[in-house]
Amino acid sequence: MVLEINKLSKSFGGIVALKEVSLEVSRGEVLAVIGPNGSGKTTLLNLITGVYVPTSGEITLGGKRIDGHNSAEICTSGIARTFQNIRLFKQLSVLDNVLIGFNHAFKSSLANVLGKGRRFREEEKTFREDAAKLLEVVGLRGKENVVAQSLPYAQQRLLEIARALATQPQVLLLDEPAAGMNSEEIAHLIQLIKTLRQTGLTIILIEHIMDLVRGVTDRVIVLSYGVKIAAGSFEEIERNQEVIEAYLGK
Ligand code: ADP
Repeated sequence: MVLEINKLSKSFGGIVALKEVSLEVSRGEVLAVIGPNGSGKTTLLNLITGVYVPTSGEITLGGKRIDGHNSAEICTSGIARTFQNIRLFKQLSVLDNVLIGFNHAFKSSLANVLGKGRRFREEEKTFREDAAKLLEVVGLRGKENVVAQSLPYAQQRLLEIARALATQPQVLLLDEPAAGMNSEEIAHLIQLIKTLRQTGLTIILIEHIMDLVRGVTDRVIVLSYGVKIAAGSFEEIERNQEVIEAYLGK
C-alpha cells in the first residue's frame, strides 16, 4: 500500500469532524471520497497534508508514519494537492507557476527560483523542459507565457495539477477538480487522470460531480457526519441504500 490511514479522528472543540476513518490506496489507484457537505472530506485532506494534526489515528506513506508532520515535510515525502478554491500565483506566468512546484523537489527557496539564483540557473534548462512536458501532459502546451489569472477557470485548475505534479508526488490529492467545468472539460480531466494513473501515480479525489467519479475511480468511499458509511466500486456505491439516503438521493 502507498498510503494507509488507520482509525483517523479529528475533533474541533465539541465537533467530531472525522471519526475513526480507515482507508488504504495502492500504487496507480484512483480513490474518490464523496459525501454531503460537512461530512469531513476536506478535514480528511487537511489531515493527510499536515494542515491539521489528528486527534487520534495513524497515517502512513510507504510504511512510514507521517501524521503530525507539517505540510512542507509531507509535500517532500511525496504527497501533493490541489485546492477547492484554486491557489495559484495569479500574477505570474503559467511556466513560473510550474517552476515554483519544481522548487519544492529542488529544495531551494522561492526567492531562489524567482530571483534565479546560481543553483537554479544551472538547473534551469532541465526545469524548463520538465515544466513544458508537464504543461503538455495537462493540456496547456503553448500557454507558458500567459499570466495565470487570464487563463479560463478550467485551465487554471489544470495548471494547479501541473504545479502539484512538479513536486514529483507519489500521491496526488485533488479537491473538487471538476468544479466549474463543462462536460467537455470534464471529459478532458477524465483522460488526464487516466493518463496519470498509468504512470503509477496514486490519486485521491474529493468530488461532487458523479460523471467524474464514475469515469475515473477504481474505488469510492462515502463519508457522512465524519463516519465512513460505505466503500466499494462506483456501481456498488450507487446501489447502496444508506448512501442513497445520506447523499446520492438528494
Ligand atoms: P466537507 O469537506 O465534507 O464539506 P469538512 O471537513 O469541511 O466537510 O467539515 C466537517 C465538519 O467539521 C463540519 O461540521 C465542519 O463545520 C467542521 N469543521 C471543519 N473544519 C473546522 C475548523 N477548522 N474548525 C471547526 N470546525 C470545523
